[in-house]
Amino acid sequence: MYSQVDIRRIHLEMTTRCNAACPMCSRNERGGFQIADLPQVDLTLLEVQRMLPPHFIEQLEQVWLCGNYGDPIIAPDTLEVLTYLKAVNPKIRLGLNTNGSARKPDWWQRLARVLDHCHFGIDGLSDTNHLYRRRTHWNVIMANAAAFIDAGGAAHWEFIVFRHNEHQISEAQELARTMGFRKFRLRKTGRFFFDGQLHPALDIQDTSGKTIYSIEPPIDICLRNASSAELGGIASERNGYANYLDTTLIECKAQTERELYISAEGLVFPCCYLASWYRGSRRKRDAQFQKLLEQHGGRNSIDARLRPIGEIIEGGIYRGIVTSWSQPSVAQGRLATCSGTCGGDSPNRHQYTNAIYLKPVHRDERDTH
Ligand code: SF4
Ligand code: SF4
Repeated sequence: MYSQVDIRRIHLEMTTRCNAACPMCSRNERGGFQIADLPQVDLTLLEVQRMLPPHFIEQLEQVWLCGNYGDPIIAPDTLEVLTYLKAVNPKIRLGLNTNGSARKPDWWQRLARVLDHCHFGIDGLSDTNHLYRRRTHWNVIMANAAAFIDAGGAAHWEFIVFRHNEHQISEAQELARTMGFRKFRLRKTGRFFFDGQLHPALDIQDTSGKTIYSIEPPIDICLRNASSAELGGIASERNGYANYLDTTLIECKAQTERELYISAEGLVFPCCYLASWYRGSRRKRDAQFQKLLEQHGGRNSIDARLRPIGEIIEGGIYRGIVTSWSQPSVAQGRLATCSGTCGGDSPNRHQYTNAIYLKPVHRDERDTH
């Protein structure tokens, strides 16, 4: 697939822990309770220093902190890890994705000194954001974002559009502008397509598993994920989605972007998609990759706490992934995760709208809002 010298971007999952409970996140069952087999772990500064020695960091262009299962602001060593990376390679671009609803403003001020971009996932306004970003607190998010921005940090507002917040897009964009966010971008989630079909809504559960409300895609068709609709049409035909997974052309994003994903357990995957293997009841296809991994040395063979990253990505499992793409069907070994996420109609390709660059607001003007 690639060698260590090719890698330019690292996607680093600092933790599997999170203060929030977003219903479509891999870490929990519909926002109700955390999936049973998810380990609660953080990467430490020492582990990152061992996995990413200076000679490797020097060749990198970007490290992005965002995890399948956790928010980087929860990991104890996030600031220290960012400081280490920047000290070794001052040209490296550092970024993270967050719900923004943890830590105190002084931590966010320190973050602004070392981070190049912070993407805040804020899906609505004070009366709607918590419907998806469950267990987050509006006033905490606003105070933290303001502290980060006022300390000079480059903040981007990312807004996942649902039926319950589509009427607030303009107001949120204006709030972003007045607070000093640099960009505002809509996300059209592809996650209403799951278990091989497009769902009209998702029931949200409490901790006992009882449905308490539902979330729905936006009514405005332009704000929906186009690929999800396309796949929904394919899936409604007999064997349609299975045939799609067998035949779609796979274009590996990790290979194109020259990137790696390192999980909070120190495991090295090409991408977050194959790394997403703790899934509760929701997906069977992860077992296919785990079986392939067992045939190529098992979990220890991708553990960067046990062996160098160069050895891992030139090892058998990475060759096995590439070989799988040319198999004639999922039943014969083609990885369904690769077809589903990097195939021609993947919902991941159409989830972002173009970012809107926000006109900077003078500090005095900001203070009046
Ligand atoms: S903030 Fe991120 S990691 Fe936390 S529950 Fe939501 S999507 Fe998952
Ligand atoms: S899912 Fe498969 S094809 Fe897509 S980036 Fe990951 S390894 Fe590559």
